[in-house]
Amino acid sequence: MNENINPDREEILSWLNEQDEERLTELWRQADAVRREHVGDEVHLRGIIEISNRCSRFCRFCGINASVVSLKRYTMTHTEILTCVKIIEKYGYKTVVLQSGEDHRMKTSWMTSLIDLIRKNSNIIITLSLGERPGRDLAEWKRAGADRYLLKFETSNHQLYEAIHSGRHEGWQKRLEVLDILDHLDYEIGSGIMIGIPGQTWADLANDILMFQKLKLDMIGIGPFIPHPGTHSGRMYLSGMFNEQQVPNDEMTTYKTLALARLACPETNIPSTTALHTLNLKHGREFGLQRGANVIMPNFTPVRYRVLYDIYPGKTEVSETFDEIDRSVRESIRLLGRKLATHEGTSESFKTKHAKYSTGIPVQKFLH
Ligand code: SAH
Repeated sequence: MNENINPDREEILSWLNEQDEERLTELWRQADAVRREHVGDEVHLRGIIEISNRCSRFCRFCGINASVVSLKRYTMTHTEILTCVKIIEKYGYKTVVLQSGEDHRMKTSWMTSLIDLIRKNSNIIITLSLGERPGRDLAEWKRAGADRYLLKFETSNHQLYEAIHSGRHEGWQKRLEVLDILDHLDYEIGSGIMIGIPGQTWADLANDILMFQKLKLDMIGIGPFIPHPGTHSGRMYLSGMFNEQQVPNDEMTTYKTLALARLACPETNIPSTTALHTLNLKHGREFGLQRGANVIMPNFTPVRYRVLYDIYPGKTEVSETFDEIDRSVRESIRLLGRKLATHEGTSESFKTKHAKYSTGIPVQKFLH
């Protein structure tokens, strides 16, 4: 095998700037081969439930940020969430992802008892994606039975990070601190970036890919930035304020980044994201799976709430039934000759990390 695992900065930049479609098929081929060799042909399905759109933060790219006063806010009840979890389980998925805005009024104990309830009633891996929370909360939820946490660092350029987060809250360093705490608590960690944030350069994107490696992530989410006209970044994008090094928020750049992330982190779980699917409803999901991805995260939020989880416009699966969503995902996997995973899909990198050294830092440490 002479696949180019571990591309250096120069190679990454050169691939990112490659325009020749024939040359690019070589990148897709390498990413697909590395994916097959390291994580196999199985595709993992993670059912996502958008449990609340309440948010205390002012992220300038996100359509549910606290400044959007016109948006009707909701929080699902424990019973509603549990019903969705049971449905996800019934479809045979092994993981549920509970996602929400970063709601500082959401009580720690509310989430703990929800995790307890899911643990008692089903046998499913629990992933949380609730934004930045104190180590104490993260420790309590881990002890209650949460397994994984998703928190994107969004960009490795901390000035750009601060520019898109309005400076009213904690900065980039804090984001990394939370990722570090999650690591010490033995969560499987997912993080990632947006492609084409206004102000993002090719050098930034190359650094993002190197950062995936440095953080030894178990899951890497890569999605195009999709401008929301109700947000600051969305308006900036629509008014066209860019320099010549601006990374486009397009499909091709997303595939290139996905493929390079696979070469840089062969054992990681990489989803073919909903944001990518939004850019190409017909083939986006399949191309993602053919260019490095091995995970899909179908939406299992009840339709009446799904429309209110308006992080960016044109989100897919806004009105489909659970049956339709599940059928279409299975069809994509079948068309590619891939297999539906039959196990829980703990990341290969997580297993390797834990075989080598268990951190041994007890959850207890963070509870005080
Ligand atoms: N509040 C949680 C999780 C919800 S947001 C958190 O902050 O982690 C989940 C992800 O949606 C964000 O990390 C971001 O990468 C993505 N997102 C938000 N707005 C977006 C937009 N306009 N275009 C593309 N992705 C967006």
